[in-house]
Amino acid sequence: MKFSNLKLSAPYLNLKPIFYEKVDPTPLHKPFVISTSQSAAKLLGIDEDLDLDSKLIDIVNGKIKLEGSETFAMCYAGHQFGQFAGRLGDGRAINLGKVNGQNLQVKGAGLTLYSRHGDGRAVLRSSIREYLMSEAMHGLGIKTTRALALIGSDTKVAREKWEKGAIVLRLSPTWVRFGTFEYLNAYKEHDKLQELADYVIEESFPYLTGSEDIYLKMYAEIVKNTAQTIASWQSVGFNHGVMNTDNMSIDGRTIDYGPFAFLDNYDPHFVCNHTDTQGLYSFSGQVGAAHWNLDMLARTLSPLMKYELSEEVLDDLYRSTYEDVYSKIMFKKMGLFTQDNEDKALYQTMFRALANASIDYTEFFRKLSRFKGNKSDILDICIDRRHLDVWLDSYNERLEKEILSPDERHEKMLAVNPKYILKNHILQEAIDKAEEDDFGMVNELLKVALAPFDEHLELEHLCKATPIEAKNIKLSCSS
Ligand code: AMP
Ligand code: MG
Repeated sequence: MKFSNLKLSAPYLNLKPIFYEKVDPTPLHKPFVISTSQSAAKLLGIDEDLDLDSKLIDIVNGKIKLEGSETFAMCYAGHQFGQFAGRLGDGRAINLGKVNGQNLQVKGAGLTLYSRHGDGRAVLRSSIREYLMSEAMHGLGIKTTRALALIGSDTKVAREKWEKGAIVLRLSPTWVRFGTFEYLNAYKEHDKLQELADYVIEESFPYLTGSEDIYLKMYAEIVKNTAQTIASWQSVGFNHGVMNTDNMSIDGRTIDYGPFAFLDNYDPHFVCNHTDTQGLYSFSGQVGAAHWNLDMLARTLSPLMKYELSEEVLDDLYRSTYEDVYSKIMFKKMGLFTQDNEDKALYQTMFRALANASIDYTEFFRKLSRFKGNKSDILDICIDRRHLDVWLDSYNERLEKEILSPDERHEKMLAVNPKYILKNHILQEAIDKAEEDDFGMVNELLKVALAPFDEHLELEHLCKATPIEAKNIKLSCSS
């Protein structure tokens, strides 16, 4: 199957017009393909090389439409940094339609009814970040929207300086957000809430169809999925940066990559978003932020189910799912495959030691994956060696209870502790080159993003240590 032969449908357009605006993309000038992800294309059943498909560029650029494509922008609202922000909607993303359970969307494709003061465009640097990080998140095994293609152009876009417009073709099984429900509730469209809930059940939770208390069950699924994704973020050191309810996917996947960052040195209080002056979405704050967002969703859905019941679901499921998933991942990362009552205490002391050591989070686990009692390999990358020195002794003692041989343990650990993480300094290097029309590094990064646990010896420059001046820096939202 070829990309340009896909046949789309648009089930979202069966909803009432209040849910969307039918709008055509505004093509960019002199578009060119920067990168494509054959891995994402597989989701659509495409087996032919995307780069050989001469129509791909015009489709992503909105010049020609795939068969059956009816383009539209979705309407939603949201709480931004704790305040209700009113109607938002897709201000620069336009949906093309759905195939194989994936909704295709082009981000940066021009003005819509919901553009407010924006220009409907996305600049090259933010598009590179979103394109690569979507695929990297998938490579890490974390639920996410995907990215199939990135195109650049000659179109000038005004930000702090003039930049160039780009478009990312994104894929997701759903583009419904917590904020989509919030829009209907805030504007007292209560009957439409049920219409949307039924759509969401059909699209994202079809196995619930016909069950009793179906909306409460839908909510429970959203709570569980969200808790799982947040646990996965915390385990890899990912800081999303803008966990507003309009950036919370209804099926719990990671969505809308803006000023995100991976931890360099382990610091639970790290805030990647420059505009988040209160630290609402700090690294460790993400767990509570998702809970708060889920509570907002429960309030929003209260015309469909009793708020007290959804609160019970939230209390019962969120923390327990989070703790369960998080501890299971951490034990794997630490190479603890037998169970011991002291293991939770061991990882808690590990985090205290990491926070005191000033040590790169990713590098620590990669080195731990090869640990054979040789503490200096790890201690040599700490600023303050004392705490981890003590901890490594207790870890070494604990390893004696493991049944696996060290080699078997190492192999399993190397498969869960990534070598390649898209740190901002590396992304910035790729962006700087791309702005000089050299896209080689974007494509190199895509390769390691999709297989971050592999060695890729020829690409080791992509996992070099973060320069001191670039460690744990904040990013601005402007994109
Ligand atoms: P974000 O912070 O990217 O999640 O965006 C928040 C809201 O602002 C969403 O409704 C976006 O569609 C909208 N938005 C962001 N940038 C632009 C832009 N350049 N033009 C139009 N709308 C935008
Ligand atoms: Mg957004």
